[in-house]
Amino acid sequence: MKYGALEAGGTKMVCAVLTEDGVVEEKVRIPTWGPQETMQEVAAWFQGKDIAGLGVAAFGPIVLDEASARFGTLLETTKTAWRYYDLLAQLRPLGIPIALDTDVNGACLGEVVYGCARGLSNVLYLTVGTGIGAGLVIHGKTVQGMLHPEAGHVRVQRREGDTLQSVCAYHENCVEGLASGTAIRARYGADAECLTDRDDVWELEADYLAQAIAGYICVLSPQKIVLGGGVMHQKKLFPLIREKVHAYLNGYLVTEELQNMERYICPPSLGDNQGILGCLALIRSATDGKIRREK
Ligand SMILES: [Zn+2]
Repeated sequence: MKYGALEAGGTKMVCAVLTEDGVVEEKVRIPTWGPQETMQEVAAWFQGKDIAGLGVAAFGPIVLDEASARFGTLLETTKTAWRYYDLLAQLRPLGIPIALDTDVNGACLGEVVYGCARGLSNVLYLTVGTGIGAGLVIHGKTVQGMLHPEAGHVRVQRREGDTLQSVCAYHENCVEGLASGTAIRARYGADAECLTDRDDVWELEADYLAQAIAGYICVLSPQKIVLGGGVMHQKKLFPLIREKVHAYLNGYLVTEELQNMERYICPPSLGDNQGILGCLALIRSATDGKIRREK
C-alpha cells in the first residue's frame, strides 16, 4: 500500500509518495507562493498516484479539530496571504483519507515511529529555525487540544544586558522572540551559520533554549527531547544546552534518562526525509484507528 505525504512549509511544499514501510518512491518540491496556485499544483501532483491516504504536516497556527467547521484553516499566520485559508480545500477532491497535524507534531511522530525515539511513548521535538516550535507525542499520539502546542512562546527570563527587541510581535520575553534564528539575525546582524566562532552567541542561545527545555521537562516529563531546525546545525549547542538544562533542573529530577543527557537531548535522525516520514506516520496512525474520510 502507498501513501502520500505533504510537508507544507512557508517556503516550499514537499510532496512525496511512500510505501507503508517508509521507502520514498517519488518526491518533489513545489515553491510556496499564493495559496490558491500553490495548492492547485500540489493537488495536481497527487492526482492519479494510487495512494491510500494523505498525511499533511503544516505550518500554523492551524485548526486541527476535525469536528470544527474550520478544520484545516490557517489562523493568524505571519504568512499573511495564507491567513484564514483552508489548506485542505483543494485536497479533499482527491477523495482519500487525509490526516492533518502541525509540521512539528509530524516530525515528532516521525521520530517516534521511524527514528531515534522508536519504542518511546512520550517525546518532545523542538525545532529552532526561523521560529521556534515544538511537536509533542504523549501516549503515542500527537497532542492537540483547543489548538496545538505553541511551545515557542513560553516565557523565559531575559539575560542581563540582552537589549534585543523581541522578534515576536506578541511577547517581549518568549523563547522564539529571543532565541529563534530570526532573533539571532536581529541581535547580531548576521545569520547563525556566520557566527559559528562566537562563543558568546551560543552561550546566550543555549541559555534561553535550556530555560524553555527545563520547563518542558517539568511539565511534560518527556522520555526524550529531539532538537532540530537550522539553528541546531550548530553542533556546539548540544553540549551547552545539556549542561545548562542539568544546571536549571539542579538535581531535582533523578531519572535514568537524565543521567544520559547525550541520549536524552539529541539531534533528529531522519535526515532530509523527516518531514515526509512524519506525514506517513500521521496518515498511518490515523487510518489505523479513526479514519477521517474526506468527501
Ligand atoms: Zn512569542
